[in-house]
Amino acid sequence: MKFHVLTLFPDMIRDGFQTSITGRAVEKGLLSLETVNIRDFSVNKHNRVDDYPYGGGAGMVMQAEPVCRAYESVAARLSAAPRVLYMSPQGKVFDQRMAEELAKEQELVFLCGHYEGIDERVLEEIVTDEVSIGDYVLTGGELPALVIMDAVSRLLDGVLHNEESAEFDSFHDNLLEYPQYSRPEEWRGKKVPAILLSGHHANVERWRREQSLLRTRNRRPDLLETANLTEEDKKFLAKAEDL
Ligand code: SAM
Repeated sequence: MKFHVLTLFPDMIRDGFQTSITGRAVEKGLLSLETVNIRDFSVNKHNRVDDYPYGGGAGMVMQAEPVCRAYESVAARLSAAPRVLYMSPQGKVFDQRMAEELAKEQELVFLCGHYEGIDERVLEEIVTDEVSIGDYVLTGGELPALVIMDAVSRLLDGVLHNEESAEFDSFHDNLLEYPQYSRPEEWRGKKVPAILLSGHHANVERWRREQSLLRTRNRRPDLLETANLTEEDKKFLAKAEDL
């Protein structure tokens, strides 16, 4: 997977991505990251890339030409037209399903806005997907791009050490994950559930599934509507009304 990020703040993207698990994946060659500084494509002698909005109003707008040239500098090197994701509070809200879908791509281009956003005309020309990370407004698209790149990266083969980790995470099957415990067995008087110490693999798996079902029902009942439930799961939920 190759990520190309069009941004005014390439350091923020590089610093955020090239640490921890994603940084290790870049070092191993499982992922690559290219940042493109939109300011390098300024058509203004003062290196400006923003201007006042037509019609008046507060703030500045990123101009179409530098954004388009930054995009073309990437697109010219790719054999196929890539998906171009504009980070925007007006976009489709990102979720695990979208992460799974994006993880199938070979290349992804992220476009990060700033100020009041980007001239609509260039968005119409180059953007394939407008994506939001939630119903709130941030100062720029860099954090949203990092969020999406992180969620996509950890689904790619070899990025996580333990292949099972992604498989049982929250939102797999549209269920939240069961609670996790580590050593010691007793911490400040609180004991680890006995079943986890039993060594009985099948019982542990069933307990975890049931905890996932209960958590999802109690915390995010909306997810249950589209969760992949077995007949056994449905019977458990019907019986567990009081839990
Ligand atoms: N005026 C714009 C509007 O109301 O839709 C908001 C602009 S915002 C201050 C600046 C940039 O931050 C946007 O162009 C976008 O790239 C990014 N951004 C802000 N909130 C976001 C969110 N929830 N999801 C994705 N990107 C976001």
